[in-house]
Amino acid sequence: MKIALISDIHGNLEALDAVVTQARHQGVDAFACLGDIVGYGADPAACLVTVRGLDPVAVVQGNHDAYASDDRDLSSFNPHARGAALWTREQLSAADRAWLADLPMTAEPAPGVLLVHATPDDPSSWYYVRFRAEAAEALEQQRAPWCFYGHTHVPTAFALSGDTVTEHDGGRHDLADADRWLINVGSVGQPRDLDPRAAWTLLDLAVGTATLMRADYDIAAAQRKILDAGLPERLAERLAEGR
Ligand code: ZN
Repeated sequence: MKIALISDIHGNLEALDAVVTQARHQGVDAFACLGDIVGYGADPAACLVTVRGLDPVAVVQGNHDAYASDDRDLSSFNPHARGAALWTREQLSAADRAWLADLPMTAEPAPGVLLVHATPDDPSSWYYVRFRAEAAEALEQQRAPWCFYGHTHVPTAFALSGDTVTEHDGGRHDLADADRWLINVGSVGQPRDLDPRAAWTLLDLAVGTATLMRADYDIAAAQRKILDAGLPERLAERLAEGR
């Protein structure tokens, strides 16, 4: 069983289509989504259609999905972020927003495999796991041997063996090499690791590996749509920079 783990699509349909094509070439049996389907990009509704059309084995809620799903107050956001979030709400139907509101915070698509958007120990607080100390705290609470997450848009992996937590760059991880793994699957639609290509992770349950994958896509087309929609220019620029 091979599962394509996709996260942080952020309304980038060009990136999502490229990842789906690449995953199918890799012979994946299923897709699972780790949240933030919408927000930032110009195609939130179309990305929802595509994700649902994949008939994913699991979808968890991201913070941007939550912000788009209801009319909660966004006054604590900076003006650019608030404007983009309000624009995203306007693009979605009532049914889309209800679907986003109903997403669970965690999912277990296979025994021992936990999916979350932000952190396994307190997923609804939207904390960030960026550094080893943050990962160590999360791994201490984590019960599943394998936890996959998104949210930071930086593909990295943390392994707990005995009392020791080690950090590993994006690449291929042998899941048998540690007691527990906490692995960031990368971002499809807005990578922030200085590699602008769309990122996702191939989980091969039969072999016991998780492999970071990258897909080229039409960045210029996604940028043009962001500018045409009147969304902040920075949201277009950063796609080419991968940050
Ligand atoms: Zn995100």
